[in-house]
Amino acid sequence: MGAGFVSVAYVVASILFILSLGGLSHQESARRGNFYGIAGIIIAVCATIAGVSMGVGGIVSIVIAILIGASVGMFLANRVEMTQMPQLVALLHSFVGLAAVFVGFAGYLDPLVMTHGAEHTIKLVEVFLGIFIGAITFTGSLIACGKLDGRISSSALTLPGRHIMNLVALGCTLLLGAWFLGADSVAGGMFPLIVMTVIAGILGVHLILAIGGADMPVVVSMLNSYSGWAAASIGFMLGNDLLIVTGALVGSSGAILSYIMCRAMNRSFMSVILGGFGQTTSSAASEVDSDLTVQECSTDDLCEELNMAESVIIVPGYGMAVAQAQNAVGEITKLLRDRGVKVRFGIHPVAGRLPGHMNVLLAEAKVPYDIVLEMDELNDDFPTTDVVLVIGANDTVNPAAMDDPTSPIAGMPVMEVWKSSLVVVFKRGMASGYAGVQNPLFFKENTRMLFGDAKDSVDKLLGGLRG
Ligand code: NDP
Repeated sequence: MGAGFVSVAYVVASILFILSLGGLSHQESARRGNFYGIAGIIIAVCATIAGVSMGVGGIVSIVIAILIGASVGMFLANRVEMTQMPQLVALLHSFVGLAAVFVGFAGYLDPLVMTHGAEHTIKLVEVFLGIFIGAITFTGSLIACGKLDGRISSSALTLPGRHIMNLVALGCTLLLGAWFLGADSVAGGMFPLIVMTVIAGILGVHLILAIGGADMPVVVSMLNSYSGWAAASIGFMLGNDLLIVTGALVGSSGAILSYIMCRAMNRSFMSVILGGFGQTTSSAASEVDSDLTVQECSTDDLCEELNMAESVIIVPGYGMAVAQAQNAVGEITKLLRDRGVKVRFGIHPVAGRLPGHMNVLLAEAKVPYDIVLEMDELNDDFPTTDVVLVIGANDTVNPAAMDDPTSPIAGMPVMEVWKSSLVVVFKRGMASGYAGVQNPLFFKENTRMLFGDAKDSVDKLLGGLRG
């Protein structure tokens, strides 16, 4: 295929990727966005293969690689539960990082184009940076995956002098970079390159281990951004414009999402990146007076309350995803709405374990989009609401974030559910949420606890409402 056709195909693919990002920003258009993305990537792969002159052997090996990759991808996507999606996303980011490391070494050992003078120096900087970002993304994403999966403790690892350690690692990287650029042969440059890769890998592990549970949403989108920049650096190394554009799109959209999430948690981006949050969860600040008791309620009691209610807000959280209660919640919503009750959903920006987690589950349960509202759209309405159902949410409805400046989650905006007439919390016991912080909401005068698996409780409630 001529270079002109390849360029046109790349432009079309870039436009499709931009349309895809636009589509994915709204539930109504998300399916269309996915379609644009799939079409863009098919065009990109075909144009790239067609644009490189290679023998039959090359094409066969690419087809085999695509078949293996597609089979592993389909196997994973079919097997993974919705609750395991964040760790899958983190794992996939690690692949991008690893690819950047491999391509960087390959591009250094066997460059596609021979370069000289300033151009050669720029090429070496691209190789060095690409491998550095790739190695941090690779190991950091694996740690994020382990934390989200519960294989690694979600609390922040705060080694003494950790900031100094990070600075020393960065300093060593700069010195190794100077050594690498000054090397007079490929063999001479390999040593600093390998040592830098090891240091970047350790830095990735340390950076993410130092970030505590409640900041994980930002970490996931930050690693998403890193994986985009790693892809862009591969694009520079390979001289592939489409990869540069795609990498920049992923890199910048991940960075914007990280910023939006930081704002939702009232935390600065730097304080998240420097880590350390979450280690104070056992402090007195987060403990609740042991004399306080909770008030329980049964599904029958709740049925009666709902039969009298005129307005209901449902606040879902990670527990609804674990219990897979969304379909039964969707049926209760339909039943109440058919009876003329005003039902709405309140979605906290970090409810669940990844951005948009709750929206996806509610869309699956066919809950109409127009009653699924953001925290800011609903927070003023709680005082005029009869019943709030908190289904498997905890940190996102914790009043300590507003009332207790010493709480580890102080300053994080939360759903102000306690301002309604009655709050019913669906959960299995008194365990804390992901941030590991106690929740004074459970002990409030107008709060009732409905203990048990959320799916069982919601099913019983549905049966009771149907009479
Ligand atoms: P939380 O993790 O705060 O609370 C979930 C609650 O669900 C727990 O208290 C648990 O209590 C309950 N639960 C678990 N399983 C069940 C079940 N089967 N039936 C009933 N209840 C159940 O969730 P939130 O959604 O409120 O908060 C999200 C947290 O996750 C925040 O701290 C956020 O920072 C973090 N996070 C968010 C990400 C995002 O992008 N959205 C990504 C990573 C982390 P019990 O065990 O007693 O049942």
